[in-house]
Amino acid sequence: MTLTPEHRYTKMWRLIKDATGWDAPDGEIIYDSGVGMENEPEAVWVSGNWSTRPEWSPDFARRIELLGEALEGLGVEVLWYDEYIRCDRCQKLLRKVDDSAFWRPQFHVLDGNTVCRECILSDYAPLEFVRRNSRIPDTAGFLFDDAENWLRRHSWIKFGEDYQTGWHGRGDNPDDIVATIRQKYPDAPVAMVSEDHSTFQTAYNVYYLADRDDEIEVDESEGGVMDETMHDETAESNG
Ligand SMILES: [Zn+2]
Repeated sequence: MTLTPEHRYTKMWRLIKDATGWDAPDGEIIYDSGVGMENEPEAVWVSGNWSTRPEWSPDFARRIELLGEALEGLGVEVLWYDEYIRCDRCQKLLRKVDDSAFWRPQFHVLDGNTVCRECILSDYAPLEFVRRNSRIPDTAGFLFDDAENWLRRHSWIKFGEDYQTGWHGRGDNPDDIVATIRQKYPDAPVAMVSEDHSTFQTAYNVYYLADRDDEIEVDESEGGVMDETMHDETAESNG
């Protein structure tokens, strides 16, 4: 018989209480627990600092070790507290440090709150997110790749082509790009959409929101900035 997440969660806390006497996170070994992680809505997890401390008695150290084994046997995700963070909106647990060169955070920090990808992409939150973040050129948001379709549907205009920054030669500066856009539209929200992100480089597209009848003109001599008459076609073909 398979356990429901709620049942597994209850059993997990029974095991923790048996081993430690605690029925809530103590804040030093066990930090947090819950149901739901990114891409695993039914995952039951407990996070903590599982390092053995010198002040522990051999008996206690052994009990913590056995607890870890029992939790894993129960199918609980036993996690290190400093590798994860909760979404402040939906409370699910999100990985916050890389576990491979291809890892990408599935959240943004918005006004000090951690907000996961699903929460950003639902209920018009992307527009709110982009508007609020893009006022500060330094932190103009790197959104998720599937946000690009969302931006196009909501009349955002693609600016330029295939920007890149990183250790492999190219260093397109987001601040410069935002400054160019704002020469014409001082208040335009600007969104940076990362289409390819690794430890060493980020490739991104840039969108802005402004009146379509009065788009930014191209200066061919500087290159890279797309002709205003071509943006629709180019945006489509890049899809
Ligand atoms: Zn969320």
